[in-house]
Amino acid sequence: MKNLGVLFFTTLVSHQICWSQSNSDSLMLDKIHHEILMHGECYENLRFLCKNIGHRLAGSESAAKAIAWGKQILENCNPDSVFLMPVEVPHWTRGNFERGSYRKENGESSTLALTALGGSVGTNGTIKSQVVEVKSFDDLKSLGEEKIRGKIVFFNKAMDAALINTGAAYGGAYPIRGAGPSEAAKYGAVGCLIRSLTLADDNYPHTGATRYQDSIAQIPAAALSSVASRQLSVDLKSNPSLIFELTLSCEAFPRTMQSNVIAEIKGKDFPDEYITIGGHLDSWDIGEGAHDDGTGIVQSIEVLRSLLAIGYKPRHSIRIVLFINEEFGNDGGETYARVCKEQNLIHVAAIESDGGGFTPAGFSCETNDSQFLLFKSWAPLLEPYNLFKFRQGGSGVDIRPLKDNRIALFGLQVDGQRYFDYHHSNNDKFENVNKRELELGAAAMASLVYLIDKSGIPANP
Ligand SMILES: [Zn+2]
Repeated sequence: MKNLGVLFFTTLVSHQICWSQSNSDSLMLDKIHHEILMHGECYENLRFLCKNIGHRLAGSESAAKAIAWGKQILENCNPDSVFLMPVEVPHWTRGNFERGSYRKENGESSTLALTALGGSVGTNGTIKSQVVEVKSFDDLKSLGEEKIRGKIVFFNKAMDAALINTGAAYGGAYPIRGAGPSEAAKYGAVGCLIRSLTLADDNYPHTGATRYQDSIAQIPAAALSSVASRQLSVDLKSNPSLIFELTLSCEAFPRTMQSNVIAEIKGKDFPDEYITIGGHLDSWDIGEGAHDDGTGIVQSIEVLRSLLAIGYKPRHSIRIVLFINEEFGNDGGETYARVCKEQNLIHVAAIESDGGGFTPAGFSCETNDSQFLLFKSWAPLLEPYNLFKFRQGGSGVDIRPLKDNRIALFGLQVDGQRYFDYHHSNNDKFENVNKRELELGAAAMASLVYLIDKSGIPANP
């Protein structure tokens, strides 16, 4: 009896502690959401970044302006320190002219919506050539050099619309953009066209990085909009020998120095243990880099602003990092991880938002089992905010290089069904970001930061 009584009492007490802890946690999450939804600044910050600075490819003048802006905005939040971390980045420009056209059978000229792939060489004049349409690298192999030499290869492969995870659909088509030009050049192609990596049926072409393989001829490469891809494919069926004229004025320059922008608050209990929150400040050089990744940038800044605004004193040191050059080589992420390692900086966690500023759904994480169990135990606290997704999976390209056997990596998960409508295109603009969805994402991130900071993250066994 006595033992049972003690057990009952102990259970009651621990339950009460548990209840009061989770109650104070839920009050804190409520406070964070209230601050961001009622006094948030992320939407106006995004408007400034998109409209006053615009797209900001690493190495460009506008990226330099974005770095100065980011530093100023972080300083305005009044953290303990704000500093720049030098990062070497590539410098490539698309130039001011890009055009793809051909004459239809009836003699009419048809100009297609296209945009050079990032890193493409220019055409040095205009390439005039027949087009071979393929769907895959295997198709190249079966056609062989005889049918490809001297022609433009057109990879007309759509993202798989049957996949619910649009990121997976993107991943499936991605090798065509990244490696397609070199694969085509191996068979003697003189140019490369791809169908844009998008699920939208519209006339916006989508750019993105392409990478030439060493010792393979570098051929010019561009993406056609989904509508233009369909049109070219139809016209090739009726006139397989049509002559495509491609002009691109891209140029590569020597690598140059830019910076990650970092704000830091020192932790009161564990000043030597860090939680990093970030997104990437660079974007592609068309559109305004709104969803990719202006939203991740202003949400990360909002995490800092809101926690300071409600007077929260973190136990761990917190860093907001605006990474430079995720898009074309991940130099910001690689440099940050290298410098942290050189300084023996201990990271307990990192969180990235780089999936668009859409309605948040939860978090994906790269953790060990005990870290994942702790993370899952926070589900009841996060579910009132419609955050239901807690799964193992990729976190973020910028924070990925921090991976070691201590850190827990998290990626903000959003409803990504429309992300690839905008991604890397002229349509990625401020007007396509919803204020409330953006703020809810920032509040979800700040909530996770609070829970990690309060509980700590268990180290690997
Ligand atoms: Zn991105």
